[in-house]
Amino acid sequence: MQYPRFTGIGSFMRLPQVKDMEGVDAAIVGIPFDTGVSYRVGGRFGPAAIREASRLLRPFHAEHEIEIFDHLSVVDAGDLPVIPGNIEATYKVIVDGLNPILEAGVVPLSIGGDHGITLGELRAVAKHHGPLGLIDFDSHTDTWDSYWGGERYTHGTWCKRAIEEGLIDTRRAVQIGIRGGLYGSEDRGGARALGLHLIPTEELLRRGVDEVLPEVRQRIGSGPVFLSFDIDSIDPGFAPGTGTPEVGGPSSRDALRLVRGLRGIQFVGFDLVEVIPQYDSGEVTSLLAGTLVHEFLALLALRRRDS
Ligand code: MN
Ligand code: MN
Repeated sequence: MQYPRFTGIGSFMRLPQVKDMEGVDAAIVGIPFDTGVSYRVGGRFGPAAIREASRLLRPFHAEHEIEIFDHLSVVDAGDLPVIPGNIEATYKVIVDGLNPILEAGVVPLSIGGDHGITLGELRAVAKHHGPLGLIDFDSHTDTWDSYWGGERYTHGTWCKRAIEEGLIDTRRAVQIGIRGGLYGSEDRGGARALGLHLIPTEELLRRGVDEVLPEVRQRIGSGPVFLSFDIDSIDPGFAPGTGTPEVGGPSSRDALRLVRGLRGIQFVGFDLVEVIPQYDSGEVTSLLAGTLVHEFLALLALRRRDS
């Protein structure tokens, strides 16, 4: 409280910038890789923008009534040295970067970066925890086989690759917020054929958050879960700063209520991807992204306190 919130070099929520994982419970990790995209680039500037917007976030979570850092030691571990233009080499960087964090029993919360990075994260996290449950907020299923005549590693194919590699237990996987125009029916059909459970935006908004949440929780069950949040799952009116926006989505308020309803689940990793500050307006997207990461930290703190 001595330094005004706008002073100093910005880490996430002004947390200590630490690489040593001794005594740490959760670590923010920036993964500024953005050349896995099919449309707009610029997600490489996402981690910096989200950290900047997160200066405003405060440690007490009023809805959950929990003092997050009383229960959780959290650091900002900085950015991984991604290799622009080389997604497969970057996957190795991600696995090598997250390995020591996971080995220390620390939960990584990664901020991207495009959604392609999630495959690298899942490789690292599944190596430590086995096949993972998945809660994926996205307007897209990201289950295409390839792009442009054979590119297999992109932000639109990571989910299919992760299933093929056995990183996701599809019996415990849900995608929330799916919508938008498609190339063909094989998009949603393909995701369902892979075993994913889809809750499209239309269904979410018709049934409402309170009715959908028990279904998500039942599907996920017990065991380790990875939460991936593509910011384009939110309506571009609330999150314009992204690469493949889809209109007619849930609000930021819906998103907060959905995430708050996930308390008690055994989360072993999180990411927040696809923020592109150049397309943002008034920092609304970055602030929403930072606030969602804050919500993830609250979920970890609650589970630690209550178990
Ligand atoms: Mn995505
Ligand atoms: Mn998407």
